[in-house]
Amino acid sequence: MIKVCKFGGTSMADGNMMKKVADIIKSDGARRYVVVSAPGKRYGADIKVTDLLYRCYDEVAQTGKCGESFDKICERFRGIVGELNLSMDIDKILADTKEEIEKEKSTDFTASRGEYLSARVMAALLDVPFIDARDVVKFDKNGLLDSERTFELTGDALKGKKNAVVSGFYGEDVNGKVKTFSRGGSDISGAIVARAVMADLYENWTDVSGFLACDPRIVDNPEGISAMSYKELRELSYMGANVLHSESIFPVRAGDIPICIKNTFRPMDEGTMILPTSKYRYTGKIVTGIAGKKNFSVIFIEKSLMNSEIGFARKVLSVLEKHGVNFEHMPSGIDTMSFVIDSEELKHGVLEEILEDIRTAVKPDNLRVFDEIALIATVGHGMSRNVGTSAKLFDAIARAGINVRMIDQGSSELNIIVGVDNDNCERAIRAIYEEFFRKGPSFGL
Ligand code: ASP
Repeated sequence: MIKVCKFGGTSMADGNMMKKVADIIKSDGARRYVVVSAPGKRYGADIKVTDLLYRCYDEVAQTGKCGESFDKICERFRGIVGELNLSMDIDKILADTKEEIEKEKSTDFTASRGEYLSARVMAALLDVPFIDARDVVKFDKNGLLDSERTFELTGDALKGKKNAVVSGFYGEDVNGKVKTFSRGGSDISGAIVARAVMADLYENWTDVSGFLACDPRIVDNPEGISAMSYKELRELSYMGANVLHSESIFPVRAGDIPICIKNTFRPMDEGTMILPTSKYRYTGKIVTGIAGKKNFSVIFIEKSLMNSEIGFARKVLSVLEKHGVNFEHMPSGIDTMSFVIDSEELKHGVLEEILEDIRTAVKPDNLRVFDEIALIATVGHGMSRNVGTSAKLFDAIARAGINVRMIDQGSSELNIIVGVDNDNCERAIRAIYEEFFRKGPSFGL
């Protein structure tokens, strides 16, 4: 049995937390390979080491030298090493790191040093080898993970090693430069290591006991999710349930490796088990979870007999492609078509140019834009098994007096997405939660 464990920033925040992490690892011989984040916040107003490193990069870009932010980072690592009573020469490692940051002058390189340093400290604490992600995680010429090479190199590096600590968050591009994943990307690194060694389980240790059915800032004390499928995870995390990076699923999916979300502060809690969709068994729940994300724009196009005009959709899509804009959903009717787009992508005049190009390309009868739309995803394999789910969902939203601006239901019936005004987002989530989680057993059909 092999378990790969990834520990997030809060779990690495100080010496005391790192000791807890070491105890967790040592309590189970299957926990052989460990991936770590950079130290996160110790208390509410604290600053994550990664954020300090981004500041550090700005200081280097302005003055050519590491400044105040790097001093703070040094203080934190010296403090941790002191607390843990480690004999490693942290002063030398920090001095070398400073020199490299000043030489490289790269955002990604600078940001990656938090994980580099915390992995070195963790390896010293556990007295096991340190594997630099730079040597094993490789990106291709398009900046995407080169999975095959990465799995092979990581597998080879770990072969014959009983235990090891691998730094999270970064790898190396085709020019030999350090490149990071997006924020929170150590989750992806953990998944990569799990796939590379074909682990039996990928444990992702964080500061909560797994996924909740919805955001606890919106609903008081929501139910925990004990099990869900890869597909449900992907839908929920993409829509803002941010316990786990939404891209973590891809490496483990290739190996059918389950993920377990665990809490470093409460290791005995069961957590959430995320299973390959083929192995997921219906739990009797209709809805697994609800998540929402604000600030989308909907471009609405209407034209009579649109459906008989060959190439209509292609023409509109090529306008979006020309402007390098992604769309999230494309609900359509006989004579209407809408594109739901993250409003960020339409800033700085991009929207106006897109509208002009759509007018030229397809001469619509009506072209409108709705802003400040929130998307709410209600997710669960159980929805396809239960007649009347969408009726109940829309009824709940209607009873709350909320206008639905858009509806999209994927053909898998795993997900119903509704678009509402940003201001109604929280209320709509509450209404859906009440309907599916607080109405009692009579609801199960
Ligand atoms: N340290 C990085 C961040 O704060 C990556 C991670 O923790 O996963 O985003």
